[in-house]
Amino acid sequence: MANRLFKGQKQFKVVTIEECLSCKLKMKRPFKINDYVYKEGEVCQKCGTKMIISAIYKEELKY
Ligand SMILES: [Zn+2]
Repeated sequence: MANRLFKGQKQFKVVTIEECLSCKLKMKRPFKINDYVYKEGEVCQKCGTKMIISAIYKEELKY
């Protein structure tokens, strides 16, 4: 089964926020294994600087 349902339980997804320290661009993407805060992220699409992961948090899934 691809979709497992947990009755009566809230479901969460984990998101990672990457932030560019140069131009302050913030990008939200799904959490990936081995992500951690202050790790180098992807290259900023706006100014080309390496972004860093500034936050990782759980988001409640909405239906
Ligand atoms: Zn930037």
